[in-house]
Amino acid sequence: MLDMDSVLLYMDESPAIIKSVYDKRIVGCPGGEGEDEHDVIWFWLEKGKPHECPVCSQYFMLEVVGPGGPPDGHGDDDHH
Ligand SMILES: [Zn+2]
Repeated sequence: MLDMDSVLLYMDESPAIIKSVYDKRIVGCPGGEGEDEHDVIWFWLEKGKPHECPVCSQYFMLEVVGPGGPPDGHGDDDHH
């Protein structure tokens, strides 16, 4: 049996896996081919937080490769 959280993540397509050496990175979504194409939308993708493109509904998930950590020295106060 699938719980609802699992179902929601895999509604139509599998999420796009974005690899990063940091805990978050900026990702641009250009949409898909043909009719699904749209102007590139940029957003921050964070580890453990799937992001859905508001235009084409593609899901993105961050896969951290390496030690992770913030992408730059200055921390932001956006945690919990
Ligand atoms: Zn998109």
